[in-house]
Amino acid sequence: MRLLNYDFCYSNVGLLVMHEFFVTSQIVMAVLEEAEKRGAKKVLEVYLVIGSLSLLEIEQVRFSYKVLVKDTVMKGSRLFIKRKKGKIKCDKCGYEGEIKFKNDPIYHVSFPTIACAECGSSVRIIEGRECLIESVKLVI
Ligand SMILES: [Zn+2]
Repeated sequence: MRLLNYDFCYSNVGLLVMHEFFVTSQIVMAVLEEAEKRGAKKVLEVYLVIGSLSLLEIEQVRFSYKVLVKDTVMKGSRLFIKRKKGKIKCDKCGYEGEIKFKNDPIYHVSFPTIACAECGSSVRIIEGRECLIESVKLVI
């Protein structure tokens, strides 16, 4: 069974941002796999959790989703996206928590560098880069 018609998808979304399209196609494929495994006739709802540091543009994900679910049992399904805040850890001072963005005009035009809110050192991202399928509602 051919679940996704990629030739069709690509020819219709020539200028789409590929990062979102790629990630969304992974999501759609995973949902279709699950739906097929359970013999679902239709997928009604898909719930995603997307970390705020995943660099995924929500609107692009929604657009890609719409294109990708055409001609599948996911057609017409509703996509719910929950944003999850990023969490960082500083190895230097031990700070662990949310990212605090300084109120600097430059942050409104470019993606900020992530640094420790306490000491300014570089930090590790421990949460917020994920993109997960939380749940799916199927008609069996
Ligand atoms: Zn620190």
